[in-house]
Amino acid sequence: MSLYKKRLKLVRGKGVYVWDEEGNRYLDAIAGIGVAILGHSNERLASIIAEQMEKLVVAGPMFNHEEKEEALEELSRFVSFEYAYFGNSGTEAVEAALKFARFYTGKKEIIAMTKAFHGRTFGSLSATWKKKYREGFGPLVPGFKHIPFNNVEAAKEAITKETAAVIVEPIQGEGGIVPAKEEFIKTLRDLTEENDALLIVDEVQSAFRTGKFLAIEHYNVQPDMVTMGKGLANGIPIGVTLTNFDVPRGKHGSTFGGNPLACKAMATTLRILREEKLIEKASEKSITVTGDKVIMTRGKGLMLGILLRESAGKYVEMLQGKGLLVNTAGSRVIRLLPPLIITKEQMLWVKETIEGALNGNQ
Ligand SMILES: *Cc1c(COP(=O)(O)O)cnc(C)c1O
Repeated sequence: MSLYKKRLKLVRGKGVYVWDEEGNRYLDAIAGIGVAILGHSNERLASIIAEQMEKLVVAGPMFNHEEKEEALEELSRFVSFEYAYFGNSGTEAVEAALKFARFYTGKKEIIAMTKAFHGRTFGSLSATWKKKYREGFGPLVPGFKHIPFNNVEAAKEAITKETAAVIVEPIQGEGGIVPAKEEFIKTLRDLTEENDALLIVDEVQSAFRTGKFLAIEHYNVQPDMVTMGKGLANGIPIGVTLTNFDVPRGKHGSTFGGNPLACKAMATTLRILREEKLIEKASEKSITVTGDKVIMTRGKGLMLGILLRESAGKYVEMLQGKGLLVNTAGSRVIRLLPPLIITKEQMLWVKETIEGALNGNQ
């Protein structure tokens, strides 16, 4: 067994920085694809996780524990849902939402969007759009349909009494950091309500970083279910599905889901976010990258995509050489999902470094 030789090998991280095996430092503006929201090796979180390791790591899904209570209490300060189902990843959060939607409505049809990304297990993958991720794995789950993202007319045509649920990212992540239009989201809400279908909002990537706890709050719409993951426990694997319906006991579950360690990490991550007002501050630290090669910078707060006139891949490598880690979202978009603890000055350095790389290559 061997590693990909061409990849950067990371050995440690602190705050917004990571180091490779040769001791080179990088500002990590992708943070494990939006996971390290408190930065790397947060001291307060690290010591609480270490304490938890010695207190209780395993309870099993059949017992309660105070760490889960604490995680739910922290979550309740930000959102109002009746129930939270705990899994271990974004795709599990989506998988649960899809199963719950079919179970609650007794209907089969799930409507997802073109360019959507919801994960790679069979249910989530059936809602994911990109051919590259789907090809070779069929047959996928029947009953899924994709409609053009942000197209109100297509939504009106597609959503019917047959529809169990509509799943949408308020800002598409992997699809290129594309915000949903307000009219589109409002239409989805109205039509799902009219047709006794559920609106599932996938916030696995968009939570925390747009200036609100959930990106859907910018739309003044109350979804029926929300899926979360990525940064929720700052790197300890976790996924949460928020719902207003009771999850039938024993119908769906997970061995590791809601374990004391992940719950403690989640509760602490949310507490730090709240105490340090990191969500509110995300908007002030946003940047707009400009230049001849840039069509636009889109997204919100610290969830940003820089759409180029050309392929973005070579700039990811070039920026790595300049000590900045980013990745792509689609072929022409440079994606930034930096830790929320990043400073305005550091964000301005990110902007200058990207503009420098784009110009230097003319
Ligand atoms: C990353 C992502 C997922 C999948 O999460 P995993 O933890 O990789 O399974 C689902 N939905 C969205 C919007 C994502 O960005």
